Amino acid sequence: MKGTLLEQMNVESFNLDHTKVVAPFIRVADVKDLGGVTLTKYDIRFCQPNVDHLDMPSMHSIEHSFAEYSRNHADDVVDFSPMGCQTGFYLLRSNEPDIDGTMALVETSFRDILNADSVPAANEVQCGWGESHSLAGAKAAVQTMLDKRDAWGEVYA
Ligand code: ZN
Repeated sequence: MKGTLLEQMNVESFNLDHTKVVAPFIRVADVKDLGGVTLTKYDIRFCQPNVDHLDMPSMHSIEHSFAEYSRNHADDVVDFSPMGCQTGFYLLRSNEPDIDGTMALVETSFRDILNADSVPAANEVQCGWGESHSLAGAKAAVQTMLDKRDAWGEVYA
């Protein structure tokens, strides 16, 4: 079924044709009005789907670091989680969509990772697999993202 979209599905990203996007990019994946509070979900895509992916220890360290550092710069970060396909992350913010502001937040948090000496909470007390981390891998992945900062807004070729 390569390149073929089937019926409309419940999950927004299942309706995204992953053969048509060009990584890296950041896009709004979903907006949910909870009655007074708006949740916006961002797709932060590092790798070209079905071509490349991040290794798990690097992803894990990006997850920990971004989750911790981004909250130093924004008080509306609800969640930052890895995609199971290992090509990127979902960032959830309790606000109206703000793609430019979110790209700035992502850039700042990535620069924090580049400047870090360790991964926050990478130990057996604070994490479910404290040994499965790679700060060097995380730094390499965010550096690759930052090198293509100008392309983040372009989702399709
Ligand atoms: Zn962990």
